[in-house]
Amino acid sequence: MASSRSYLSTRGGSSGFSFEDTVLKGLASDGGLFIPESIPSLPNDWQSTWSTHTFQELAFQIFSLYISPNEIPDEDLKSLIERSYSTFRAEDITPLTTLRNSENLHLLELFHGPTFAFKDVALQFVGNLFEYFLARRNAAKPAGEEKETLTVIGATSGDTGSAAIYGLRGKENISVFILHPKGKVSPIQEAQMTSVLDKNVHNLAVVGTFDNCQDIVKELFADSAFNALHKLGAVNSINWARILAQIVYYFHSYFAIQRSHPGTTPRYVVPTGNFGDVLAGYFAKRMGLPIEKLVVATNENDILDRFWKSGTYEIHAVSGKDAEGGIAADGVKAHEFGVKETLSPAMDILVSSNFERLLWYLAFERETTADQELTERQRIASEKVKELMIALKTKRGFSVTPGMLEEAKVDFGSERVSDSQTVETIREIYTASDSKYVLDPHSSVGVTAALRQIASNGTSIHQICLSTAHPAKFSHAVDLALNGLEGYNFDDVLPEQFKGLAVAEKRVEDVAKADKELVKEVVERLLAGEKE
Ligand SMILES: *Cc1c(COP(=O)(O)O)cnc(C)c1O
Repeated sequence: MASSRSYLSTRGGSSGFSFEDTVLKGLASDGGLFIPESIPSLPNDWQSTWSTHTFQELAFQIFSLYISPNEIPDEDLKSLIERSYSTFRAEDITPLTTLRNSENLHLLELFHGPTFAFKDVALQFVGNLFEYFLARRNAAKPAGEEKETLTVIGATSGDTGSAAIYGLRGKENISVFILHPKGKVSPIQEAQMTSVLDKNVHNLAVVGTFDNCQDIVKELFADSAFNALHKLGAVNSINWARILAQIVYYFHSYFAIQRSHPGTTPRYVVPTGNFGDVLAGYFAKRMGLPIEKLVVATNENDILDRFWKSGTYEIHAVSGKDAEGGIAADGVKAHEFGVKETLSPAMDILVSSNFERLLWYLAFERETTADQELTERQRIASEKVKELMIALKTKRGFSVTPGMLEEAKVDFGSERVSDSQTVETIREIYTASDSKYVLDPHSSVGVTAALRQIASNGTSIHQICLSTAHPAKFSHAVDLALNGLEGYNFDDVLPEQFKGLAVAEKRVEDVAKADKELVKEVVERLLAGEKE
């Protein structure tokens, strides 16, 4: 019997995983990603009973559909949710604002968490889950037995690192090590990470590139002795709990827009990199939330936009370097081909890790038929995914069947946005809005895509653009767009919390060479230091 609270791997190696398994393992041992055995449908009365729920209450209802109460009892789940969103500055957690009333253009602000980026919505929850599962395992141990610990290791060129650090700071039995390329992350992002002084947080400034850092992290995970000794954990964007947490704001914003425009079926426009944010929207839609379409908005790293236009998912060689993500689940390395550096760096990817999950559903819907046994349908879908992932690795790309492309177009549209268009839209929105709204470059990619849809299809559909970061984090692009305009001063964009960052006390460990053995030494020395 398929359950939405039990998980299988997209590559078919195994099934029957608990939610706890998916969170702590991150990636299945066959290299696949975890998905629920079935997508839950909504209770019959969801429209009426959920419509006045707070973000936290919605989170509880939605998470309960994917997590068995035998795994996390209701009261514990509620308390995890309360703690995860108590760090947000906005009472609504993810407020919906209207950018242009006459054009039915709205913005869903996802950047009111501790690091001012949308990744907080998921990583605050993931940090608490790690702590919860570890505490429970340790409570079950006989007195005197050694406690289970987790060593989270990740590489970052900006956003993921600080969100992970804020999600895990001060958590019991967890240590976190974030590698960044020394001198190559933006000053604000670097200061955000290194000004966190909790004993369990360690920033490693590695002399090298982001790809060097990413490669070292992968080598450490592959080092079975080191991994077994320190129980390595990952917080990268393929963790199922991250997708789950992101489903909530689609529901929350849906109800918000119903209050001003009853009965409307909105379109969501999502600035996309690793396909995690927009995939959460796909789950919301499949659960039964009325969504007209999900628009995937890419920057000039446009593998996804090309897929929706052609049915071919293909890595293009372009010059450039250093980007977050961009690693296929089975290891196409970004630096072998290179991504283009753009003004929206959190979306600079070569391939999108979470796209594999969508492929599984496309294959399930179109490569199998409803009269087949469920387990047989799942097996066929996983075989198809495996075949495509092998082609991605060996031939740098693949084409899906016409049926799968058709299925992809049922729920999604796509747009590609250049750097110059990104800058132009930041300027246009600032000058044309009374509030002088300042978009960050990632959100601007989404808004540009929405404006394009308005230009060709009119304004009859309400469009909700996901706004993924605060503009102060990306001063370069914002200055490019707005410098010299009357009344513009970047200091006005800076939130209070960023003002003291430059002079705040910092703690960072320099690593003189991008070398795995050296990083191992540093990690072990700092871990020993934590225990003193
Ligand atoms: C991570 C990130 C994105 C891309 O989200 P995906 O889930 O990887 O598609 C967009 N904008 C910002 C600011 C981000 O940090």
